Amino acid sequence: MPEGPEVECVRRSLKSIIGKKIQRIHLTELSQKYRKYQNRQTQFDQFSGHQITNIERIGKFLIFKFGKREVILNHLGMSGNWLLLIKKNQILPSHSKVSIEFETLPNVVFYDTRNFGQFKIYEDYNSVLQHQPIRKMGIDGLLATFPIDEFLLRINKRNYANREIGSVLLDQKLVAGIGNIYKSESLALANINPTRLVITLTDEERCKLGFAISKTLHKAVESMGSTFSSFRTPDGGEGSAQNWHQVYGKKDKKCNNCGSKIRRVVQDKRSTFYCPECQL
Ligand SMILES: [Zn+2]
Repeated sequence: MPEGPEVECVRRSLKSIIGKKIQRIHLTELSQKYRKYQNRQTQFDQFSGHQITNIERIGKFLIFKFGKREVILNHLGMSGNWLLLIKKNQILPSHSKVSIEFETLPNVVFYDTRNFGQFKIYEDYNSVLQHQPIRKMGIDGLLATFPIDEFLLRINKRNYANREIGSVLLDQKLVAGIGNIYKSESLALANINPTRLVITLTDEERCKLGFAISKTLHKAVESMGSTFSSFRTPDGGEGSAQNWHQVYGKKDKKCNNCGSKIRRVVQDKRSTFYCPECQL
């Protein structure tokens, strides 16, 4: 599943379509089967003749703006992604749901194999901000300066105290943009064992963790994300963050720091990887 850094890489890669005049936003036949693409084709016709003026990211969501009140909220879901179409009549990827055609190439298509993605019109920007997961979203882990004081306030909340830190980090109400990969990597960088209860973390460890999250997410964007099975940027680029992962996906491999075997535990049905020697 694309995490905050991958969504940010997609956003940057889509910069080439900003300012281009839209001919039409076209829902494929396939998209009509799924509720998350519930707007009708006629509702998308209102965007013809407009430009995409900006694409913003909030957590793992992208918001398309058009210089008109209506905006479109997009979520990549488990496996959704955009592809730039640089040739005329280029064959669409399978599972294509929405294409945006411009007066000049490239066009762009959203495809989504597992159908957890979303591409939905909202009447204005404010109503997107009121959309439940966005309204409750925590700190953006990719802010240029990580707000450590706010992070401490949030992680000190009582409802996290008796939960394992490896589970808590996936809560987007704490830090938005962390998913399963960068959860494990942030804890490894902060030398914190994922099975520790939040209440047992010292102030120093909480600070260290906040900065480790920020550093890990930024480093992932610089590496253009992690490419495991499906993630590519819309221009076809592959991420390289997997090359510096310390623990994620490395069960039974040797830790680079101490040589111990990396372990895997399951927390809230998700895998967490860690080094039992380096992470206390
Ligand atoms: Zn180690």
